Amino acid sequence: MDEHEQNDWAPETLAVRLGQERSQYGEHSEALYLTSSFVFKNAAQAAARFSGAEPGNVYARFTNPTVTSLQQRLAALEGAEDCIATASGMAAIMATVMALMNSGQHIVASQSIFGATQQLFGNLLPRFGIETTFVDGANLAAYSAALQPNTRIVFVESPSNPLTELVDIAALGKITRAHGSLLVVDNCFCTPALQLPLALGADLVIHSATKYLDGQGRVLGGAVCGPKVLTDEVFKFLRTTGPTLSPFNAWIILKGLETLFIRMTAQSANALALAQWLAQQPSVSRVHYPGLPTHPQYELAKRQQSGGGAIVSFEVRGGRDAAWRVVDHCKLLSITANLGDTKTTITHPASTTHGRITAEARAQSGITEGLLRIAVGLEAQVDLQADLLRGLAG
Ligand SMILES: *Cc1c(COP(=O)(O)O)cnc(C)c1O
Repeated sequence: MDEHEQNDWAPETLAVRLGQERSQYGEHSEALYLTSSFVFKNAAQAAARFSGAEPGNVYARFTNPTVTSLQQRLAALEGAEDCIATASGMAAIMATVMALMNSGQHIVASQSIFGATQQLFGNLLPRFGIETTFVDGANLAAYSAALQPNTRIVFVESPSNPLTELVDIAALGKITRAHGSLLVVDNCFCTPALQLPLALGADLVIHSATKYLDGQGRVLGGAVCGPKVLTDEVFKFLRTTGPTLSPFNAWIILKGLETLFIRMTAQSANALALAQWLAQQPSVSRVHYPGLPTHPQYELAKRQQSGGGAIVSFEVRGGRDAAWRVVDHCKLLSITANLGDTKTTITHPASTTHGRITAEARAQSGITEGLLRIAVGLEAQVDLQADLLRGLAG
């Protein structure tokens, strides 16, 4: 394909088209190469492929054409020089840390990050000599204060789960660059359809492709996007240790990306409408959604994101009993902690995703007993509201 034309494509077009290399059969849809290894024409080619003197596929733990297509498409969408796909979002985070850090180095992380990431940083990495300081995610001064001479990575999610707290990525990028550490942003909640962390000043973007990139709850996957000097290290780590993405999952996620913009736009609009409706319900005391002017970082959200995203959380009056009543009256919304699906899901964070942390830690991070989180999908607003109203009306 003509390189010049591809370089001119708008993001929506990249999401549908980039990275496809047609085989001899001229297939219209991307080919799924379900193969673990690749054959060579002769001994000399085998030797050249193994040494890296000749580019090309060797073994699917290293590369596979379907996975390569996904990597090219996702890199283009994130505005990254390169992208490396992984078996899951957690594999992406683990590989990034293991590839780029040494024993004796330090991480500064927002305390409002995914539970398994907290476990990895807080409980697993110390066994390998890597310590993490957790800070209040929205407070820039807290990051500055936590930086040490040996801080290699500053790790954040924006918006956060479940309270949709934002991190000012551009401002934090200035702080980390001045210090000489890497800013790593988990862009799972916004996706490149709504937020471009690299353009804002981040060094690496992490994805759980399991969520909005697939978008239909089918497969696990992950990715690391950024400059080749960093992703090459991640690739070397994966190639040796094995948590690479399967070609089948890559193919599913490629298909998911084709509808990424239309889904994120529609789910964001659906979430905004639901947040506005929730804010008017007498039994709801507070709504957390970056697209509402009442959100404390509304101006930052408008600057940093092109939509509010599809996660809405809200507090009902009456604590856990009232919150569980809403959940238990749902017939349409799925009671599950998963998110990023076209099907709307509802969860009570204090007794599920955040159930293992102490009551004090929960209170401190704002996870109240009356808090509910909804990951808004594509169902009609009227049906979502009717489903919630049963439990809200008591
Ligand atoms: C789900 C999730 C992850 C982990 O991804 P997996 O694909 O489940 O391993 C990481 N970060 C965020 C923000 C997530 O929501």
